[in-house]
Amino acid sequence: MNADMAAQPGFDEPLNQSPPYVDVDLYGSDQPLQRAVACNGGEGDAAALSTFGKQWGSADMFELARQANENPPKLKAFDAKGFRRDVIEFHPAYHDLMAESVAAGLQASTWRDDAAPAAAPAQVTRAARFYMAAQVETGHLCPITMTRAAVAALAVEPTLVAKLMPKIVSRRYDPRFLPWFEKTGITLGMGMTEKQGGTDVRANRTRAEPDAEGYAINGDKWFMSAPMCDAFLVLAQAPGGLTCVLMPRFRADGSVNGLHFQRLKDKLGNRSNASSEVEFADAFAWRVGEEGRGVRTIINMVQLTRLDCAIASAGIMRMALAQAVHHARYRTVFQKHLADQPMMRAVLADMALDVEAATALVMRLARSFDLAADDPREAARARLLTPAVKYWVCKTAPGFIYEAMECLGGNGYVEESLLPRLYREAPVNAIWEGSGNVMCLDVIRALSREADAALTVLHELTGETLGLPGAGEAIAFIGKSFRRLDGERVARLAVEKLALLAAAAALNQVSPHHAELFAATRLATNHASMYGAVDLTNADIRGLLERALP
Ligand SMILES: Cc1cc2nc3c(=O)[nH]c(=O)nc-3n(C[C@H](O)[C@H](O)[C@H](O)COP(=O)(O)OP(=O)(O)OC[C@H]3O[C@@H](n4cnc5c(N)ncnc54)[C@H](O)[C@@H]3O)c2cc1C
Repeated sequence: MNADMAAQPGFDEPLNQSPPYVDVDLYGSDQPLQRAVACNGGEGDAAALSTFGKQWGSADMFELARQANENPPKLKAFDAKGFRRDVIEFHPAYHDLMAESVAAGLQASTWRDDAAPAAAPAQVTRAARFYMAAQVETGHLCPITMTRAAVAALAVEPTLVAKLMPKIVSRRYDPRFLPWFEKTGITLGMGMTEKQGGTDVRANRTRAEPDAEGYAINGDKWFMSAPMCDAFLVLAQAPGGLTCVLMPRFRADGSVNGLHFQRLKDKLGNRSNASSEVEFADAFAWRVGEEGRGVRTIINMVQLTRLDCAIASAGIMRMALAQAVHHARYRTVFQKHLADQPMMRAVLADMALDVEAATALVMRLARSFDLAADDPREAARARLLTPAVKYWVCKTAPGFIYEAMECLGGNGYVEESLLPRLYREAPVNAIWEGSGNVMCLDVIRALSREADAALTVLHELTGETLGLPGAGEAIAFIGKSFRRLDGERVARLAVEKLALLAAAAALNQVSPHHAELFAATRLATNHASMYGAVDLTNADIRGLLERALP
């Protein structure tokens, strides 16, 4: 170092770097989210959502998320003397995140104590919170999602509901390894996937033998996440066929139930969360629904987990975009902020358009879940569009986050920035709870089995996108593709168009001008394979970036 350099004040302070993106109001700084919530009936909750957004956007919460992911859970299968323990130890930061999410009701706020759906806009306001929490830490949201979704399956068993619901809706997270009946609050997981098949659960080999109080379960599951949940919905072959059961971690007499964890998965991402391989040795379980109706029983639950996958993916896209826009506003290259370089502006604005659309789309879908109980058209919309929305949003997220990472240059590739974690996290939402092709098959199923209801949805989307560029052609294409006898072969094309159409419709409600831009660049023409390869006007680019982050 020469003497001149050393004399410069603060020479060893980094120059031309953006400050950390922390202590932000994740709600107040997100205009597209606020609009989407308001347009779907959640406006009355704005102040509370802002409080939640400030809390989750605090530096402390980002720090908890970092710690929970840098210190992944560990399986303690045995004690020092070789006795089975079958517990998983989590870092305290994971428990803190769980406590926050449970205190906010993310695991149950869409249910009443009797397992009936809570009144609207419970789904929308919870979706907004879930979207914000996902921006900070997604791993712990796995048991949160499963707990809230499992209630949809449990609802068919009034005795279980009466026993368990008070613990499920409790806002007091209780991490202790104790019988469910001794705890202040409980969480639920699910075990469906076996080695020989996750999509085709009918191939499950795990057996359920009726015994005095319920069933004795023997077999294994190849993936069972959040293994410290207090009970698990499990599919097993009973004498009457594939059946759903609820397996608690402890038996009624207070002894530990027969769940033996073999190992934890070494996963690409989702590292704060544990995903186990487990064997069941005469594990006790209660039946949920009729024997032989296992798939039917869990189907309502699956729709809710799919909705959450899409909300979480939209949330992590939002965080990646916010990080990219924030950095570009501080970073100077060739004497000009990145955020003022025409090509970078085009990239960011094009990405912002996808986030606007994804956000409007998941909030509109949450609205359908809010209204489904009393409105068959909304129930049909939720049925047809949930797999399409999961398909498009969850499969868009990984490529989107990669592009956001590149906006930060080398900093984006480095672990301390949030981007690597978001990037690793993104693919799982597309894979679990029905992978891409399976979502497309589910759309086809809805169109063939509930054709009238599905056609009503398409008709409504036609009205909601009237006049938007490319909308008419998209509808014609969707109709034609699904009528084809070889429809399965082209299903991805048609389902993507369906999701884009639904996104344009949702955005039209939130911001007609942005719906127009979205339709012009995604429906009327095929979007280029890279973000920023679009021809948006400078005024539109400015508008999108101002909306994305104040
Ligand atoms: C991190 C993580 C956590 C998980 N946690 C859980 C959990 O808690 N509980 C649980 O039960 N499961 C869990 N899973 C498992 C997950 O749900 C399954 O991996 C998923 O359902 C896919 O099943 P599979 O792995 O057996 O793949 P397969 O069913 O073998 O599918 C492989 C591929 O084939 C495609 N495919 C399937 N059928 C068709 C078809 N007819 N036509 C065309 N393509 C098709 C699928 O889309 C997929 O891309 C978890 C998975 C991960 C990665």
